[in-house]
Amino acid sequence: MTTVINDVKTYNLYINGEWVSPISESYFDVISPATGQVVSKAALGDEQDTKRAIDAAAAAFPEWSAKTGRERAEILTRLYQLMIENSEQLAKSISVEMGKPIQQARGEVMNAAEYVLWNLEEGKRVSGEVIPGAVKNRRLQVIRQPIGPVAAITPWNFPLGMVTRKLAPALAAGCTVVLKPAEQTPGSAILFFELAEKAGIPKGVINLVTGTPQQIGDALLSDKRIRKITFTGSTNVGKQLLRKAADQVKRVSMELGGHAPFIVFEDADLEHTIEQLARCKFQNCGQTCISANRIYVQESIKDQFLSLLKEKAESLRVGNGLEKGVDVGPLVSKAGLNKVEEQVNNAVEQGAKLVTGGEKYEVEGHEEGYFYKPTILADVQDTMMIATNETFGPVAPIFTFKTEEEVVAKANDTDYGLAAYCFTKDLSRSVRVSEALEYGMVGINDTVLSQVEGPFGGIKESGMGREGGTDGLADFLEKKFISTII
Ligand code: NAP
Repeated sequence: MTTVINDVKTYNLYINGEWVSPISESYFDVISPATGQVVSKAALGDEQDTKRAIDAAAAAFPEWSAKTGRERAEILTRLYQLMIENSEQLAKSISVEMGKPIQQARGEVMNAAEYVLWNLEEGKRVSGEVIPGAVKNRRLQVIRQPIGPVAAITPWNFPLGMVTRKLAPALAAGCTVVLKPAEQTPGSAILFFELAEKAGIPKGVINLVTGTPQQIGDALLSDKRIRKITFTGSTNVGKQLLRKAADQVKRVSMELGGHAPFIVFEDADLEHTIEQLARCKFQNCGQTCISANRIYVQESIKDQFLSLLKEKAESLRVGNGLEKGVDVGPLVSKAGLNKVEEQVNNAVEQGAKLVTGGEKYEVEGHEEGYFYKPTILADVQDTMMIATNETFGPVAPIFTFKTEEEVVAKANDTDYGLAAYCFTKDLSRSVRVSEALEYGMVGINDTVLSQVEGPFGGIKESGMGREGGTDGLADFLEKKFISTII
């Protein structure tokens, strides 16, 4: 259970239905990126704590997986309702720990709850197949069964959304889970577990370990009882986990980094495009895997586009996400701020033009916060760091292009393949471009790609597997083929 001393909460591990202190008896600080102050302390778990959590998940699996989809759905419905009832508390925790404006945090909570609702419904409808065979007295069928105990590792940028995208389908499918949330943002995951306990999720079915990532990751990946790892985070860490998962041929779902192209053709509705771009680029302070990172504008509309985007960027209010009317919060950490500064400085040194922003933002009373002004760079070239490295910040780099063929080639010239956007009123072009873009998701005049009804995920080095839609649950089920002679 969470304890609070001088407003600083202390979070323990959740193993086998109990809140327990870590074997190390140590805790690490969780810092508010807006104030630089310690807001909570989380348990420094290690391999041994993780082993305890795996023991619990493995022991709980037979009973949880044997329940019917409806029985599991009843418990998950209570969890969904509790999330809605406690949405403000969840949103506040997200905003305090990772900095996003409170209204965006509220949106994240609703989206996270929708993943629970969607998957509990899907869980009732898991079915198999009866296949006509070649021989009269033989019957062929396929059944689908839960994969087994699952390891889930999540990032800080959507600290609750990423948890329910994994746990909701896993639980609805009949899997048990060991979760390791990101060190910057354990609070909303802890709250979610408290709600899950209240909802009646049986002991051992979900377990939470915070602490040293490598030790926890190694313990999860080297244990044969863990049958699948589902990870959201950087491509770099994803590759390390994939290599380790290969040793035991564990199932994997990888939601990794992105470097989304955002293509604006001269016939696009510019007002709509700027609204969508500002949302996609500056929401979450640009710390989104599907954020528009390479903005390609057709040469003929460059000046008009830049002037509209500048006006929009300068209208955004930067500040502590908990304050009313704030559009852009701080970056999550000093390292995040440094990376943004490095990319902007590198671009400007190599000839990019700073249209607006380009520096830290001082918020009165929050001198320790990691704030950065919404920034626009024009005349960006392919050789600049920002053109190839994932940008995780409020920086909009503008490239120009002449033809459709040229821009599609440029958009595809990357190792990433998560999300891409195309803005045009030409229907035929929108079809051609969406089919030619080598990405897992494409938005046509739209930037909202994280919708529970659709499969979210990437190709190339952006990962494998899908979350949401019918695929989300399917990724936690194994098919079994049964052939019977009667
Ligand atoms: P990260 O550094 O890869 O961390 C993600 C998670 O992995 C955290 O819980 C982290 O723990 C853990 N981790 C780090 N090293 C590990 C290791 N050696 N073994 C096991 N676990 C390890 O990524 P991040 O900075 O938190 O998140 C940003 C990245 O996530 C971006 O690249 C973004 O594009 C990507 N992302 C992708 C999607 C998608 O759906 N494709 C969605 C959101 C974010 P600690 O926090 O304790 O270090």
